[in-house]
Amino acid sequence: MTAYQLLINGEWCDAASGETFATHAPSTGEKLADLAKAGREDAVRAIEAARRAFDDGPWPRMSGAERAGYLRKVAELIQGRSQALAEWEAKDSGGTIRKAMFADVPGAAASFSFFADCAEREPDEVEHGESPFPPARSVLRREPFGVCTGITPWNFPFIMASWKIAPAIAAGNTVVLKPASFTSITSLEMGRICLEAGIPEGVVNVITGPGGSAGEELAQHPLVDKVAFTGSTEVGRRIMQLASGTVKKVTLELGGKSANVVLDDADLDLAASGVLFGTFFHNGQVCESGTRALVHAAIYDEFVDLLVERAGKLVLGDNLDMNTDLGPLVAPAQVDTVERYVKLGLDEGAKLLCGGRKPDDLPAGLDRNAYYLPTIFEADNSMKIAQEEIFGPVLCVIKVGSDDEAVKVANDSIYGLGGGVWSRDPERAHRVAAEMRTGTVWINDYHMITPHQPFGGYKQSGVGRELSEIGYHEYRQVKHIWRNTATDRSGYLHFSALSNTL
Ligand code: NAD
Repeated sequence: MTAYQLLINGEWCDAASGETFATHAPSTGEKLADLAKAGREDAVRAIEAARRAFDDGPWPRMSGAERAGYLRKVAELIQGRSQALAEWEAKDSGGTIRKAMFADVPGAAASFSFFADCAEREPDEVEHGESPFPPARSVLRREPFGVCTGITPWNFPFIMASWKIAPAIAAGNTVVLKPASFTSITSLEMGRICLEAGIPEGVVNVITGPGGSAGEELAQHPLVDKVAFTGSTEVGRRIMQLASGTVKKVTLELGGKSANVVLDDADLDLAASGVLFGTFFHNGQVCESGTRALVHAAIYDEFVDLLVERAGKLVLGDNLDMNTDLGPLVAPAQVDTVERYVKLGLDEGAKLLCGGRKPDDLPAGLDRNAYYLPTIFEADNSMKIAQEEIFGPVLCVIKVGSDDEAVKVANDSIYGLGGGVWSRDPERAHRVAAEMRTGTVWINDYHMITPHQPFGGYKQSGVGRELSEIGYHEYRQVKHIWRNTATDRSGYLHFSALSNTL
C-alpha cells in the first residue's frame, strides 16, 4: 500500500496528530493510498516554512531567468513520467485515462513552461509613461506578494495544482498547496517533482487534509499574503471572509452554469458534438461545462433529436480503458447529488429526454453506484436544475426564439464562467458572445483552455484571472517608484503648499 506524508520545508513528514486518511479509486472502491491528515498545526508549520523561504531564502532574490530554469526542469520531469502520473490521476479522480494523458498531464507541464517564459520575459521594472514633471520620472516595479496559498478542487487535481504553483513561484513567491481530499495523490507527486527539480526548501509545500481546518488556516493565517482558491462558490464566499481579517489578496475560481447557444444557422452536426462535449466531458464535473444548451426554435426539434441519439452512443466503463468516454463520478456521494437534482428536475416539471439513472450494465468489477448515465432534460431557465450547479452529467436544453432572447437567458444566472456560441456566421456569433456576461466564450468550440489565454469568472463565478500574462500579474504586486533629480522645487505645486520650507 502506498503511503504519503506532507511536504513541508523540503521534507516529508507526518501530520502532528499522526492521523491519516485513505483515498480510493471511485471506479472500483479499491483503496489507493493512505495520506497524512494535516490539521491547523500542520498548516501553520507549512506557512511558516514558506514565510522563511520568502523572507530569508534565495528564491525571491533570483532573477526571473534563473527561476525559469527550475520551472522548465519541472515541466521536463512531468513529461518524463507522464504515463505514471496519468494513471494516478485517472485512478484517483475517476477521470478517463484519455483525459489524463491528453489533457491533465501535458496541460500541467505546459503551465510550468508557460510561466517559465513569463518569468524570463516579463520585466521586473518598467518606465511608466512620459513624466508629467521632468526630470522626475516614474518607475513601476512588479514584486512577488510573499507567501501564497493555493486550495484546489477534485475535478482536475494535477492541472489545478500547476495553475496554483507555477505562476506563484515563477513570480518569486513561495507556496503552500492543499488539494481536495478525494484527489490528493498527484499534487503530492507534483511537490516531489519540484523537490527533484532542485527548487529550494520551503518554496513549494503540499499539505493534505480537510478544508474545514487545514484549509481555513491557509485562508486566514496572518503570515499569508495571497490566497488562490478554486472550488465551489459557497466555499469561495467563506475564503473571502477568512482572508478579509488581514486583507489578503484573493483570487477565486468558482462554480458555473454556462450557456451553450446554438443559433439557427449553426452546423448542427458540429454543434451537437460540441454541446455534448461541452456538457459531458469528465461527466460534467467541470466548472465551465456548458450545462445549459440554448437552442434556437427553428432548429430545436432536429437538434434535440441529434443530441439524444448521440448521447446514447457515449461509452461508460473502466476509466483506465482507452475506449471509455465516461468513467465514474469522483465518488458515490457525487452520484447521490446528481440523483437528487434529477428528482428535483422531474418534480419541477422538466421533461427527461434520456438518462436519469445509473447504468444497468457495466463491465464486471466496476462500482455501479459511482456511475451515472448522461442525462438530458428539456427545461425552463427558471428551474433549479437550470440555475444551480449540479456538477454531474446533466444537460438542460432550453428553447429560445432569437439571438436577443438567447443572450437574455444566458445572462439570467448568478454565474458567468464559460459559454459557447454555434453559428456559421462569425460576426453574428461574435455579437452574441460580446453580450454574454461571462469570462470566456468559445465560438464553434468548447473547453479550449491553454496557459496562453486568461480564464476566470464574472459575477459569482469568481474574482481575478488565472493563466496568461494577466494570471501571472495576479501573483505580482505593483510598486511605483518616483525618482526626482530636480534640486529647485519652487515650480512644484505640492512643495509650495508649505512654501515656508523652500
Ligand atoms: P469545494 O469548494 O468543496 O472544495 C474545494 C477545496 O476547498 C478543497 O480542497 C476543500 O478541501 C477546500 N475547502 C472546503 N471547505 C473549506 C474551508 N471552509 N476553508 C478552506 N478550504 C476549504 O469544491 P469541490 O467539490 O472540490 O470542487 C467542485 C467545485 O469547484 C465546483 O463548484 C466547480 O465549479 C469548482 N471549480 C471551479 C473551477 C474554476 O476554475 N472556476 C475549476 C474547477 C472546479
